[in-house]
Amino acid sequence: MKVLQDLNLEELQALMSEWGEQKFRAKQLLDNINLGKSISSFSNISKELKDKLLAVFADIPLEIHTEQVSKDGTRKFAYKLADGNIIEGVLMSYKYGNTLCVSTQVGCRMGCKFCASTLGGLARNLTAGEILAQVLVVNALLGGKTGKNRQITNIVLMGSGEPMDNYENVVKFLRLVSSENGLNVSPRNISLSTCGIVPNIYKLADEGLQVILTLSLHAPNDELRRTIMPIANKYSVKEVVEAAKFYFEKTGRRVVFEYALMEGVNNTPECAKELAGLVHGFPTHINLIPLNEVKERDLKTVTHKKAEQFADMLKRLGASVTIRRTIADDIDGACGQLRNKIVDSAGE
Ligand code: SAH
Repeated sequence: MKVLQDLNLEELQALMSEWGEQKFRAKQLLDNINLGKSISSFSNISKELKDKLLAVFADIPLEIHTEQVSKDGTRKFAYKLADGNIIEGVLMSYKYGNTLCVSTQVGCRMGCKFCASTLGGLARNLTAGEILAQVLVVNALLGGKTGKNRQITNIVLMGSGEPMDNYENVVKFLRLVSSENGLNVSPRNISLSTCGIVPNIYKLADEGLQVILTLSLHAPNDELRRTIMPIANKYSVKEVVEAAKFYFEKTGRRVVFEYALMEGVNNTPECAKELAGLVHGFPTHINLIPLNEVKERDLKTVTHKKAEQFADMLKRLGASVTIRRTIADDIDGACGQLRNKIVDSAGE
């Protein structure tokens, strides 16, 4: 089933003119879409037009299926897609605003050894409108509208899925969500996290979008990286860092490297030295994430003391580094803990 939220204003206008409707209808549709409404609850739209839309498009791309609240206040949502698949997302509220973590795929095929999102493999890509709908429904849930009344201020593409493995849909989502006709979230407030699909990092740098690129490195050399991230067999650490430099040069945006600390795997002094060497010479920031343990995996996290020691080594070597606070691990809402419930679409 198609998703109306995939369409931008021009595409909605083209559809309305094709259906013999007046042009201003497109803007009315978009105003309803921006409020996170289902087609059947659209206002100012005739029953006839709603029926016509419903014959082609899903009433709503996804609905909040369940919600869990962590003791730190973080909220985790399971969304049910129109085809029955379940994806997850996380809402973090700070003094400066609300950050929503969105998923880009149902499952993931990257196979990183430490991540829960990849356990069942990839079911399918999400469309741009399905990624957008996650923002729209949570914004609406918070009582948000558009403009000054928007509640979601920041977005991180760090839920399940590899954004660069669903490139076209993700870029379309970035354009939709940052459009003046849409929620108008500044790309500067959006972070895209990737395991490092190198050609698409170059492509993204050329899109003219100013999103923050965060690169999941997790190991400072190819030999170690290959043991935990299959993508490392395809692209070397050197190629990933070169691409990050290009992204910085093209966009002027400091690249963030993510490094999940795994006891006895990547937290040795040698690793710190190698890592500091890699990021030397261009503006970067390293985010250390003490591993969030995933029960199906035997990788272990580090103590807070060891994380601090690793951070101190990096600082002494001149790197800019912070340890990311662990959030929502009591509800499996932390990095790498999001899961999917995949329905076999053949059985639908
Ligand atoms: N596919 C994207 C988005 C993944 S989630 C990517 O690879 O970047 C965002 C971050 O959480 C990534 O850096 C990811 O590597 C990291 N992550 C995954 N599993 C984790 C875990 N169990 N503990 C800590 N961080 C994890």
